[in-house]
Amino acid sequence: MSAAGQRGNDVVSLDERLLYLRVLRAVLAGATVLDAALLPGGLRQPFAVVGSFALAYLVICLLAEAAWRLMRRRGLWLFGSLLMLDGIYLAWAAYITGGSAGPLRYLILVHLGAVTLLASYRTGVKLALWHSLLQLCVFYAERAGTLSGGPRDITTEWYRIIAFIVALWTLTLTIATLAAVNERELRRRRYELERLAQMGRSLEDANDPLGVGDVLLDTLSDTFGFQRMALFEVVEDVSPRLLTCRNLIDAVVADFTIGEGSVLGTAHADRRTLLVQDIDPAVDPWLAAIMPDAHNVAIVPLVADAVVGVLVAETGQRGGGRIERRIVATTERFAGHAALAMRNANLLERMQQMAVTDGLTELANRRSFDRSLERELTRAARTDGRLSVVLLDIDHFKVLNDTYGHVVGDTVLRQVAQALKDCGREYDTIARYGGEEFAAVLPGCSSALALQVAERLRRAVEEAAADVPVTASAGVATYPYDGIDANGLLHAADQALYAGKRDGRNTVRSAEQARAVMAPIANITL
Ligand code: GH3
Ligand code: MG
Ligand code: MG
Repeated sequence: MSAAGQRGNDVVSLDERLLYLRVLRAVLAGATVLDAALLPGGLRQPFAVVGSFALAYLVICLLAEAAWRLMRRRGLWLFGSLLMLDGIYLAWAAYITGGSAGPLRYLILVHLGAVTLLASYRTGVKLALWHSLLQLCVFYAERAGTLSGGPRDITTEWYRIIAFIVALWTLTLTIATLAAVNERELRRRRYELERLAQMGRSLEDANDPLGVGDVLLDTLSDTFGFQRMALFEVVEDVSPRLLTCRNLIDAVVADFTIGEGSVLGTAHADRRTLLVQDIDPAVDPWLAAIMPDAHNVAIVPLVADAVVGVLVAETGQRGGGRIERRIVATTERFAGHAALAMRNANLLERMQQMAVTDGLTELANRRSFDRSLERELTRAARTDGRLSVVLLDIDHFKVLNDTYGHVVGDTVLRQVAQALKDCGREYDTIARYGGEEFAAVLPGCSSALALQVAERLRRAVEEAAADVPVTASAGVATYPYDGIDANGLLHAADQALYAGKRDGRNTVRSAEQARAVMAPIANITL
């Protein structure tokens, strides 16, 4: 028995294989007895001897199996010995019941076929050798007169033995080869299933579309050795976006517009895989540019309710051979799993984005402003740095609402937000603080610099291409002079803002200026 029988993850367990072998041995012993009973004329030993030998053979086999169980399933050599015993028993049984002319010889073929299929190719070949040797031993023993009742015609007997040995080898090798083909197919399928399971595990760690795309391409490249691949993300009805790729030429393609009849468009619209021999540059110019001379290309849509992406993979079989259906089917399964993961990643990304974005203006919302201010305050405290906040409030917005209505008011808010976004520095967080108030965190900005930024923001509002022109007032507070925590800073900025409102609006004030104005008033009150 080969190591194949020992593998715990075999499709057919060792116990099951042993059961089949036990049945086979019972059939061999039973057939010997039956033959002896039906054809007593050809027997070279009395029937009782044949019967007791068959029984003894079965008992030895069962005892050996029991011994193996007692040895806690170690000692597979016992099975090898049992197979040799089978050979000796069959050689003896064939000889007793008529030798090369007797019917029991064919049991040897049955035994060989069964063992080759149940154990392994190698065990089958070894056993064929063993049976051949035993046949020759019986023949020479008969010829030498060691065995009783020697053959009558030596030459005929010799030819029969040789023909039988040829048949025996032909059978073994045929079964072994065909079984190997089947086994290879099974192994391949099992490998593909394992890759699918592994891809599932990797997808759990991929929480953005790019990560999902990379897992898909890596899996395909490992499983099928695809060389060139491109994965396009399809978001709503805009042109596809190249998400990730492998071994593509560095062609700069800015516009992935899908033309009439293009393979990507067809796979996307029909939601089915397309297999093309070549990419036609006339129909798919940019695809042909990034994958020049591609042959045997599979275009597989990633479908999860809607089409979330399209995979373009050169299957690597150059020289005319068609893409195997099996490979396409498995690629589609991989793509199906990736599609679900990509849809989930998209949803997650959108939810995360929604959690930090203001729905009307698409600026950062209050929550993300607070978080960003806390983060920058911690950083400033640690590095002894500066940090400023700006609060900006649109002037007389209530009047605008009352005059033009809330819908126009909303539009103006969006237009003002866009103007603020366009003039902010990349690392400044500009947020909608609430209502018609906006706020900015300016890391590293001293009071003087923050006043300049606030003035720029104020002017941006004034100059915004809004449906109704508006102005805004802004207040600036700087860490650590005007406040040492978020509340303190925001309060100071608010005071500055209202100082600006009091001073006629459409203006910027610092917390320091606000305090300077407030001090005399406080003295008067006193
Ligand atoms: P000022 O700030 O110059 O003192 O005057 P104001 O009229 O802007 O003052 P206030 O802060 O009292 O009014 C803010 C108005 O902004 C009230 C409300 O109708 C309007 N507003 C707040 N949020 C929204 C919004 O999301 N959409 C629209 N259209 N209006 C809003
Ligand atoms: Mg307000
Ligand atoms: Mg206002």
